[in-house]
Amino acid sequence: MYDDHKKKKHKKHIVIIGAGAAGLMAACAASDRGASVTILEKTEKAGKKIYITGKGRCNLTNACDPQDFMGHVVTNPKFLYSAFYGYDQQQVMQFMTDNGCPVKTERGDRVFPVSDHASDVTRALLSHLKGRDVRIRYHCPVKRILTFEEDGTVRVAGVETQSGEHVDADAVILATGGCSYPSTGSEGDGYRMAEELGIGIIKAEPSLVPVAAADAWCMRLQGLALKNVELTLGRPDGDPHQKSGKKKKKPLYKGFGEMLFTHFGISGPLVLTASSYMSFHDHPEGYTMHLNLKPALTPEQLAARIRREIDAAPGRKMATVLRTLFPQRLSEEIALMSGIGERTASSVTDKEIEELCGLIRDVPILAVGTRGFSEAIVTRGGLDVKAFDPSTMECRSVRGLYAAGEVLDVDAHTGGFNLQIAWSTGHLAGECAAEDAED
Ligand SMILES: Cc1cc2nc3c(=O)[nH]c(=O)nc-3n(C[C@H](O)[C@H](O)[C@H](O)COP(=O)(O)OP(=O)(O)OC[C@H]3O[C@@H](n4cnc5c(N)ncnc54)[C@H](O)[C@@H]3O)c2cc1C
Repeated sequence: MYDDHKKKKHKKHIVIIGAGAAGLMAACAASDRGASVTILEKTEKAGKKIYITGKGRCNLTNACDPQDFMGHVVTNPKFLYSAFYGYDQQQVMQFMTDNGCPVKTERGDRVFPVSDHASDVTRALLSHLKGRDVRIRYHCPVKRILTFEEDGTVRVAGVETQSGEHVDADAVILATGGCSYPSTGSEGDGYRMAEELGIGIIKAEPSLVPVAAADAWCMRLQGLALKNVELTLGRPDGDPHQKSGKKKKKPLYKGFGEMLFTHFGISGPLVLTASSYMSFHDHPEGYTMHLNLKPALTPEQLAARIRREIDAAPGRKMATVLRTLFPQRLSEEIALMSGIGERTASSVTDKEIEELCGLIRDVPILAVGTRGFSEAIVTRGGLDVKAFDPSTMECRSVRGLYAAGEVLDVDAHTGGFNLQIAWSTGHLAGECAAEDAED
């Protein structure tokens, strides 16, 4: 506890830890409501992560129907309702436009700056803060959050920086992000600070991350990209299609789209999304994924197609026949996996064709891990949302402490959803911290 808590000044002072998307938006909302704001940022600049988002173009939100938005939030969507409906995608787009960063909507409702420069998003936020009572102190890592007790209630008093300086505050907003891409300043500091105050932490794990596979054939296909395939993520305790009792078990994830083979396993949009549903902490034994290479064809259509190709040139090797359906390297791997190997097409029996079709529609891949935080787009886990009031973002056990953005146990699919979470929760935290401090 911090005993030297000073009497509140007339103008309320809010300290925001972290000048990322959530922290900057919180500063905008708080200063709009007349609060004096100090942002303490540990790196040398604001929005370091924003700069690398969307491959440098920043997919800043997704213009989908608001009802559809929550379907893209993987962890704790209900917690986000108030924040999202209080500050939604249209408001973000309007904010950016009003502050010198007009936006455009692309395929899949993904929203980008018209300039295609992520730096313009940070510039818009900083330009909004200009002329307001807001200062940003760079190279200023915060070590801990200071509290005091009043009438049995624990209240926030300020923060202590790494250099030992105490900065007083009427409210503190924790916006330190997760652990992914630690070079951007997000190194999990917020978890440690919150844990010291007794706030529950859900174990942080990399998410939206490439996946390591145990199967050597994946590595042999390194560099090969596949389009229009279907990937199903089985439950770790068995096949996704198997029956448990009378109920058919739903797979953890099923998606259609693009994927890529790499020197360690698999990546690409489909795989990143599937990774949101894996926890190697809970399931170190790994996950079986099921790849359907021809999801548009029924098993009968696929078998008929293969038979037609065999009949057209029965003297060819089966791998050559498969080249009419797949790229060469993949055809060779399928022929190997099926056990047909180097045999000629005419020697392949009906039963073998049936089994081959089964394989093409369900190639198993054993996912054994991820590429870690250094390659993860987001962090799953973080501050337990049960410790926070979803209508204000205030901590239930420490009055005046708020949290926003990726530091919370919330995460979503790619497509602009994670930044929208940062904008919405940051805005709500800033607004409520300023209003509460006014009381
Ligand atoms: C490569 C990549 C691409 C991405 N692309 C997209 C995309 O296109 N669209 C999308 O929606 N999402 C994208 N994301 C995810 C998105 O960037 C994050 O979800 C979002 O930036 C989280 O914002 P935040 O403010 O909560 O945290 P962060 O952006 O991580 O900001 C946290 C800030 O806190 C500071 N900080 C940390 N600890 C301390 C401390 N102790 N003291 C002071 N300051 C501290 C950090 O330096 C940092 O500036 C991408 C992520 C990555 C890694």
